[in-house]
Amino acid sequence: MHDLLIKNAVIVDGLGGEPYRGELAVAGGCIAAIGDDLGAARETVDAAGMMLAPGIIDGHTHYDAQITWDPTADPTLTLGVTTVVIGNCGFTIAPCRERDRDLTMRNLTHVEGMSLDALRAGIRWDFESFAEYLAMIERSGVGPNVAAFVGHSSLRTYVLGEDASRRAATAEEIAAMQGLVREAMDAGAVGFATSTNEPHNGENGVPMPSRLADDAELRGLVNAMGESGRGIFMLTRGTMTSIPYLETIAAESGRPVLIAALQHNPMNPEGVFDRVREIKAARARDRKLIAQVSCTPLTMDFTLASPYCFESLAAWKPAMEAQGEALKRLYADPAFRAAVKEDLVKYRGMRIFNSEWDKLKIVEVADAANGALEGRSIAELAAAAGAEPLDWFLDFGLKEDLRTLFTAELLNSDEAAVGRLIGDPDSHVALSDAGAHLTFLCDAGFGLHLIGHWARDRGIITIAEAVRKLTSQPAALFGMRGRGRLAPGYAADLMLFDPATIGRGEKRRVHDLPAGAARLTASARGLHGVWVNGVRVADATGALWARRPPGTVLRDFAG
Ligand SMILES: [Zn+2]
Repeated sequence: MHDLLIKNAVIVDGLGGEPYRGELAVAGGCIAAIGDDLGAARETVDAAGMMLAPGIIDGHTHYDAQITWDPTADPTLTLGVTTVVIGNCGFTIAPCRERDRDLTMRNLTHVEGMSLDALRAGIRWDFESFAEYLAMIERSGVGPNVAAFVGHSSLRTYVLGEDASRRAATAEEIAAMQGLVREAMDAGAVGFATSTNEPHNGENGVPMPSRLADDAELRGLVNAMGESGRGIFMLTRGTMTSIPYLETIAAESGRPVLIAALQHNPMNPEGVFDRVREIKAARARDRKLIAQVSCTPLTMDFTLASPYCFESLAAWKPAMEAQGEALKRLYADPAFRAAVKEDLVKYRGMRIFNSEWDKLKIVEVADAANGALEGRSIAELAAAAGAEPLDWFLDFGLKEDLRTLFTAELLNSDEAAVGRLIGDPDSHVALSDAGAHLTFLCDAGFGLHLIGHWARDRGIITIAEAVRKLTSQPAALFGMRGRGRLAPGYAADLMLFDPATIGRGEKRRVHDLPAGAARLTASARGLHGVWVNGVRVADATGALWARRPPGTVLRDFAG
């Protein structure tokens, strides 16, 4: 007898094939059969004509810290995701010596969008090596299946300590990091991840350690990964890291290079397509370069106490080093303002915020007397006041004691352009950044948005193709065996959804992080069931959480 039978379903196989009516049986955590009249089961679910698909594989998350205190990696399971890849951009917490724990958390606080207090109260540090980290999360259990990158910034901190964010590594230090990469690959890392991206800074604007690496280091570490005959090199690139340069790394190491974050910038509208063309040209030469794109607009909620979207401007650095009254004095300082205005011109089209003051709006005022300004843009408010937008923005923030909540639509909001990026059959749709930027955004439901918005509503791709891009395509990309398809013998990672209503709900703010810190979260629409390795973890009402988390720490990847 089967453990579970899902009948009256429309089967979406994950390979992009035409959906068909059928039933699916599960036994021992795997798909036992797909067909008609599969016999009896201990539990039967009537799908009532809804679509049954493989669970989503989220290729770009940052649950490394959160999963040590929250094995469910909330809200991922309730958004149809059954497998997460952690350690993206190289922002990991392993390996880590005891002496470097606080340094690691101070590096993560900005990019994760979590307060230092939350990280200090939350992270469990029962490990030092990468292998011990994987063993620890495996022991406490994981909700989704987890594949982990070994992260460059952690390797640098492990070998260089405080110097990791200050200088290039010596030949001996590179050799030590190479040894750690080899160890991590032996322990089951899915690959090696790094970032050269300018907005990636730690506390006080200190660059993330990986940004200090030179060519010899980067090449040496990717080659060390390549010695294992497997592994993917993941990188979030800054403006100085060219695609032709990455092609030389792919050629030398023989390994695929997954390139983030290819997002459309309206101030440089052809830039992203130029990069995609370079990636395609490299593929034609048989180098495995893959463009990681996003199907959601990059929108961030923030206050002037921690305005992430401005922090990649060089002139903003003093503001990252200041707090409280000192920060307010700086915001009022004409010299600071003049330098920021100059940077905004200099970097237009090259940074997260590109002077689109019409897309920067007030969400929530601190002083009720200003209530009428909610929902209005800085562009219109500054124009009405006859002020320069940056001046108006900082003056208003100061008047409200830096407590105004703003929102900025930053990248990827031009639907025609985004449609071209995700309609490309070779592009990898990911970039949820789930587990990071927690106070700024929540795109953990990106997969439901791809199916509901882009496939059903916009018709850019079929639902079957959207599901393929979320399941079998990333499974093949990361070398995940036996996942990402509905086929006998494959893991029973499943999601059941109503194609008429599937989508992601509105984001909302909750205060449930360690130390009571806030984060943004979102619920699904039209999602009726999620199973990980045959265990149901969500229904139409959200998370079901009773037993041991059913996920697996994945270690056995195809080459
Ligand atoms: Zn990332």
